[in-house]
Amino acid sequence: MPEGHTLHRLAQSINEHFAGQVVEVSSPQGRFVESANLVDGTGLVDAQAWGKHLFIGFEAHRWIHVHLGLYGTFDVHTGPPAPSVGQVRLRLVSPSRKGPDGAALTVSSTSYADLRGATTCDMITDSQRAAVIARLGPDPLRADSDPDRVWARISRSRAPIGALLMDQTVLAGVGNVYRAELLFRHRLHPLRPGSTLRRGQVGAMWQDLVELMRAGVSTGRVDTVREEHTPEAMGREPRRDDHGGEVYVYRRLGQPCHVCGSKVRTEVLAGRNLFWCPKCQPKFRSRAAAQ
Ligand SMILES: [Zn+2]
Repeated sequence: MPEGHTLHRLAQSINEHFAGQVVEVSSPQGRFVESANLVDGTGLVDAQAWGKHLFIGFEAHRWIHVHLGLYGTFDVHTGPPAPSVGQVRLRLVSPSRKGPDGAALTVSSTSYADLRGATTCDMITDSQRAAVIARLGPDPLRADSDPDRVWARISRSRAPIGALLMDQTVLAGVGNVYRAELLFRHRLHPLRPGSTLRRGQVGAMWQDLVELMRAGVSTGRVDTVREEHTPEAMGREPRRDDHGGEVYVYRRLGQPCHVCGSKVRTEVLAGRNLFWCPKCQPKFRSRAAAQ
């Protein structure tokens, strides 16, 4: 599933290609036709990402709310639109200014974007958008986020930290890759209850996420290994995986940990495969239990 960095990257790309322009909006597949007609030929104001949600704002306070879910894609292309192939729910084409006789004006650059397979593609109002955002926890990629809210939720919960990180009401934008990698980098066992973490640990994880996810926005990949664990530094082969990026544990089941050599393990937690190193991320024992 695309994680927050993908959505922020997508928002940037939509803004570069469409913001401030009159945009043609259509639904070649047919499922979004009535909504598309409401904003077709109006100005696209800006696109914003909040966690894994994307909001594309148009004039007259109309928003298209997109959640890609597990299988959705939203691809931005330069050049005139190709004939739509497959189930294109939403298509944006820019610019679409018409000449006085109704003919399209000649423009030097055209872009289009196709949305397919998304879980959510809805036309919503300002207040509906505010309601979606109100249900989300702070997003590490938004400068206006308050990490104290994350601490308040984690410190009050007996749920495993591995589940809390995936809960979008605790923290918005983290998915399966960042979850596994963050826990590894902070040497935390995924089943450790949130309430046993110290404030400094949660603060350090937040800061780390801010830096890792910002790097993900600029490169489009999730790279989480420290300088000393890169393929070059370790003299190992780069990782081959369609998700790309150099990681410690994600989808490395049975392979040796880059730090200690133990075999990476996996288990299902919060509905998704979680990967961790049993040695670097030892089981947490509370003081009471150890006595
Ligand atoms: Zn290890």
